[in-house]
Amino acid sequence: MARQTLGNNPSVVFRAKKRRQIAILWFGLPFIGVIVWFNQFPQQLNNAVAGTFAIVAISYVAFAVIFSLLNWRCPCCNKWLGKELSPFSCRNCGVGLRR
Ligand SMILES: [Zn+2]
Repeated sequence: MARQTLGNNPSVVFRAKKRRQIAILWFGLPFIGVIVWFNQFPQQLNNAVAGTFAIVAISYVAFAVIFSLLNWRCPCCNKWLGKELSPFSCRNCGVGLRR
């Protein structure tokens, strides 16, 4: 992992990570929309479409989880930052992530 590529300011690195994290969440919104739609009108989808969509949705979730585990780490100690989207500081090393 190249930890120092964006400079050595933890809050700058953290902002870039947060942007990527929010981008992956936005990317997932259409999937949530289709899941809601599918729950409302299950008779409008045949099994082949539903099966294909399920595979795509599961692939997205797997990708998002792996991406989050790799991306959502402290710029200093590389520990996972937890479920919070705006942690004030790293729970492990205490480095400030927001300014
Ligand atoms: Zn840390």
